[in-house]
Amino acid sequence: MLSHYDLIVLGGGPGGYVAAIKGAQAGLQVALIERDKVGGTCLNRGCIPTKTLMHTTSLLHEIEKNTAAGLCVADASIDFAALIARRDAVSTQLRDGIEGLLKANKVELIRGEGSLSAPGEISVNGETITYTDLILAVGSRPAIPPIEGIRNPGVYTSDDLLEGEGKQFQKLVIIGGGVIGIEFASIYAALGCEVTIVEALDRCLANLDREISQNATMLLKKRGIAIHTGAMVKAVGQQENGLVVRFEQKDQTTELPCDGVLVAVGRRSNTDGCLAQGIDLGLERGMIPVSEQFETKIVHIYAIGDIVKGGIQLAHVASAQGIAAVDAICGKKPSVNLSAIPACVYSDPEIATVGISADEAKAAGISVKTGKFIMSANGKSMIELADRGFIKVVADEATGVVLGAQMMCTRATDMICEFADAVANKLTIEQMASVIRPHPTFCEGISEAVEAVDGNAVHIMPSRR
Ligand code: NAD
Repeated sequence: MLSHYDLIVLGGGPGGYVAAIKGAQAGLQVALIERDKVGGTCLNRGCIPTKTLMHTTSLLHEIEKNTAAGLCVADASIDFAALIARRDAVSTQLRDGIEGLLKANKVELIRGEGSLSAPGEISVNGETITYTDLILAVGSRPAIPPIEGIRNPGVYTSDDLLEGEGKQFQKLVIIGGGVIGIEFASIYAALGCEVTIVEALDRCLANLDREISQNATMLLKKRGIAIHTGAMVKAVGQQENGLVVRFEQKDQTTELPCDGVLVAVGRRSNTDGCLAQGIDLGLERGMIPVSEQFETKIVHIYAIGDIVKGGIQLAHVASAQGIAAVDAICGKKPSVNLSAIPACVYSDPEIATVGISADEAKAAGISVKTGKFIMSANGKSMIELADRGFIKVVADEATGVVLGAQMMCTRATDMICEFADAVANKLTIEQMASVIRPHPTFCEGISEAVEAVDGNAVHIMPSRR
């Protein structure tokens, strides 16, 4: 360990490790301090393990659907221990890859808990090291709401279910119908568990397009998942053979017996403990206000990822912010466009959005035109027995510039990239429609949705002619 680095990055998640490598590529002497495993939440107890579990559990649904196409798989089931082993193998392989990249880029990986002891100084493992620039990328952890009995045994967070030996339940109650709640509901329902979601707001996935949230709710219910909305969990009690979740809905109190509870009500910043007393970054509920370059109120100290006030807590956002912060540190023009942020839910079918929806445009007083294509008319969707899905696109009324897209269909999380490109680069509907997309593909639905904006889609029945 050196006594001084050009750049110290605190936290080795997708924000921190990307920033560290980018800094090294720019010729800076970089140290990355990590108290746990590199890869952070995303790789060790977030995106990667969840999607690994989901990949296999969703195959059961595929088998079920494909019996109509002659697929005969007798007694398909999941070996839970093997599934957990696979989950860990994927994370380990990716983590080893990142550690190799850090080494190859000559980023010094310092294992230990770092804290900002004074501006310009970091203390780690009892030593003090200095820096020219610092990037704080310490991430977040599951929030634990002040609900009576929330710390009872049998109540878990996503961290608990994604690390270690894995947990199986007969009856699982999920508090919170946000992204984490929905993804875990899909996994556990596929594993044969009776799942109930209790959501305080009037709909699940409340920050997404209303039609998407309604369709997702309908599909989850069809798969046997019970959903209570407008329902506030008040207590988690213990009883002889398990737990009981008490929630209030309108004036009614309901009790749900279960053997496991997942708390998925948002995430809390990890800034506590990494700043010494007297270091004032203007924290608001643990979140750090930053400039457009991600610099905090103390010069040469940057903050990125889940700890940024007003930011979006997504892995790819953290990575992009890390790149932007390094650009600023190196005095370079920003190399990432942070104006178009795709967001995905890995439900079945997948959900993906970017830019604004028609409702958001209306609320902001922007005149827009929209196009929508129902994917049941898409050949590839039919071939693959895909569930009902759609693609919606929103464009500026006068210029035709694409402002956003919302999709719920097979491969939505990959296909959203086309719209992210369009929004980031201000492409028009006309430009998007001029592209030849191969046949048969799900992407043909994009051509249809953009052509539908001006009523030119071939595979949509004309309303009047
Ligand atoms: P969230 O904020 O998306 O959803 C939490 C939900 O819990 C809200 O809808 C809220 O109304 C509800 N809630 C809060 N208190 C409640 C109570 N007492 N009773 C009932 N309901 C209650 O949070 P999350 O799902 O925990 O996800 C955390 C973060 O992680 C989000 O920013 C999310 O975007 C991110 N994430 C993203 C992905 C992905 O991109 N695929 C996956 C997982 C997590």
